[in-house]
Amino acid sequence: MIYLDNAATTKPCDEAVQAAAQAARLCFGNPSSLHRMGIQSEKLINEAKSVILKRLGLQGELFFTSGATESNNLALRGAAQAYKRRGNKIITTAMEHPSVARTMDELEKEGFEIVRLSPKDCLEDFEAYMADSVDERTIMVSCMAVNNENGFKTDSERLYKLVKQKNKDTVVHTDGVQGFCKTALKGDLISLSAHKVHGFKGIGALYKSDNVRILPLVFGGGQQKNIRPGTEPVELVASFAAAVKAYPCDLSHFDELKNHLCERLSRLEDVYINSIENKSVPNIVSFSAMGVRSEIMLHALEEKEIFVSSGSACSKGRISSVPDAFGLKADRADSTLRVSFCMENTIEDTDKLAEEIENGILRFRRSKRCRA
Ligand code: PMP
Repeated sequence: MIYLDNAATTKPCDEAVQAAAQAARLCFGNPSSLHRMGIQSEKLINEAKSVILKRLGLQGELFFTSGATESNNLALRGAAQAYKRRGNKIITTAMEHPSVARTMDELEKEGFEIVRLSPKDCLEDFEAYMADSVDERTIMVSCMAVNNENGFKTDSERLYKLVKQKNKDTVVHTDGVQGFCKTALKGDLISLSAHKVHGFKGIGALYKSDNVRILPLVFGGGQQKNIRPGTEPVELVASFAAAVKAYPCDLSHFDELKNHLCERLSRLEDVYINSIENKSVPNIVSFSAMGVRSEIMLHALEEKEIFVSSGSACSKGRISSVPDAFGLKADRADSTLRVSFCMENTIEDTDKLAEEIENGILRFRRSKRCRA
């Protein structure tokens, strides 16, 4: 089996599995309990926070959530509610994950002015282009650090600096899901998800810098400073931290894999790389094998035990806004495949993939011509 769909989700690493099992067996006290077992669980949670904050390289607070969908909702709605008296303009992009895009749609219905900017309109300096739109009414800027469908990277440190130069009170939210552990992240609010870094599904976090406020979405027993109440999932928290600790720092292997794959794909007729050169992370490669619809190729690869994605797994049949945000024509968008690596993938995996793409092209492009 060759698993090349790591942007959708990753296999939990042994460290994460062991940490969860150990916490379940030995550290099952409620972190709010006043006795020793509760205190032990609370300690575990605080240690996990330190591990994740250290990897982020930022000072501030961390709130555990059920995943980045919730983190994004909490960040956007929480900040919009907290700062609505200051203004009503929010700037975001046309390439965001649905958990940001749909939340923005809801905020728009509630009267916020949402400005959605497309990378295609200023690919050479998207950060400056975004910051240009910031004015005194802008309460928030939200931009993903790495796009989940094509790996496009926005420099969140630079964007943060430029936005604050325009308006120091504008809150910067970064969907850091695909960038965490892979690239530097900056923001007043940063959404994270464990299952993209070999942790479990169902646990994520929202980083918050000390200088911004957010209001909660749910109300309960006062846990996590009332920002995200509910008994903390100690086992999942332990596994999240263990996965982060185990995630390698030297990611040059991704460059090798990407370079090799792109070189192999460049030998095939009418196959185009969609990931933008020098502006994309090396672990996500989007390409189009023209004339073969994504789903057809995806299932042909699946027959050969190779697992990739057509664009994004999160869209669930919805038409993604990402191809259009990058100016991709319909025929190219229809044949888009996304390959996303983990450190266990090998050069041989990419060779096998390229071989099977070639076979898929021969099979389906030819049969299409016969039918015509
Ligand atoms: N943002 C991005 C960029 C993502 O790729 C994903 C997951 N596909 C999410 C948010 C949502 O994360 P979760 O699955 O943890 O809800």
